[in-house]
Amino acid sequence: MPSVDRRTLIKGGLTVTAVGALGALPVGSAFAESAPVESVSGKAAPTMYSRSDWNARKPSSTVTVLDRKPTYIVVHHTASPGNTDDFSKARAFEVSRIIQNAHMDGNGWSDSGQQFTNSRGGFIVEGRQHSLDALKSGNKHVEGAHVSGKNTEAIGIENEGNYVTASVPAKLWSSLVELVSYMASQYGVTPANIKGHRDFNSTECPGGVLYGRLPELRKAVGKALNSEVLTVAEWPLLKPGDTGQKVLAAQHLLRGQGLRGVPTDGVFGPATADAVAAFADARGVERHTCMASMLADERGFLGADVWPLLTPSVAPGTGSDAARAAGVLADSTGTRSASLGTLNTQAWKELLSA
Ligand SMILES: [Zn+2]
Repeated sequence: MPSVDRRTLIKGGLTVTAVGALGALPVGSAFAESAPVESVSGKAAPTMYSRSDWNARKPSSTVTVLDRKPTYIVVHHTASPGNTDDFSKARAFEVSRIIQNAHMDGNGWSDSGQQFTNSRGGFIVEGRQHSLDALKSGNKHVEGAHVSGKNTEAIGIENEGNYVTASVPAKLWSSLVELVSYMASQYGVTPANIKGHRDFNSTECPGGVLYGRLPELRKAVGKALNSEVLTVAEWPLLKPGDTGQKVLAAQHLLRGQGLRGVPTDGVFGPATADAVAAFADARGVERHTCMASMLADERGFLGADVWPLLTPSVAPGTGSDAARAAGVLADSTGTRSASLGTLNTQAWKELLSA
């Protein structure tokens, strides 16, 4: 290599080794595919409709496409618009427009927050710009706006409807299984990393009923892809009106964080909700924003983004508020306190998920 070139390259921040490696790649083979293939994984793609099918608006600013695969697939419900019996394709497109307008005009975002929308009639529709091409490529991820703290790592699906108490329509369920199987196959996501929104943020989303079916979803995807399904512990979601030993443990933990007005009665009342909200604010927990959580009043919900801040490393039996919380959980799960070592975040998570 002539010395002048070498000097120039080093000034540009590239090492000789890196230049050599780049030079070895055939031109255009890395990220310049002109026509995306249907499947890079061997799993056939389900029918998916593109943004032009529903006349999507142009994003108000550039959407970021990352040269990486997402780690998680995140299931949401839209909550609103609600549980229509209109299972048509036209309705699926209308819902896509409603969400985009809410996100652009209501939230001031550049585009729809989620990468995909799944309708009650089982129509799978592209959300945020470039999401369909990215998924087909199997090696790119469109940075979305649907799960606080994980948008560079998580691809999101908004499922039309509200599943706090209502059951999930069969058509929506089977298209969800198909879409998630395809995503998992394209990106190499393990079934354990198929999550609900509440596994990351303190939100009801995707509704207790749909959330309760995630183990079944993981199993169906594992079966479709012939991959092992491991069960992992998740933080529980506690909210106003809840009662029981987990609430009592949370109350001890809040007191341990200096929130002294909290009762220790195992009832998630207004004082407990106020304490959770004050604690989350003080610790800078980001407000979560998906279609469902932007409309609901979820102030004071205690979930996955608050628990890790609330659960200090503690040795059970040492008399502190946190040790009392550990004792409550150990009793309620039939674990002998003495058998617990010093609790770290993962140990708290396992105790709380039992
Ligand atoms: Zn959500």
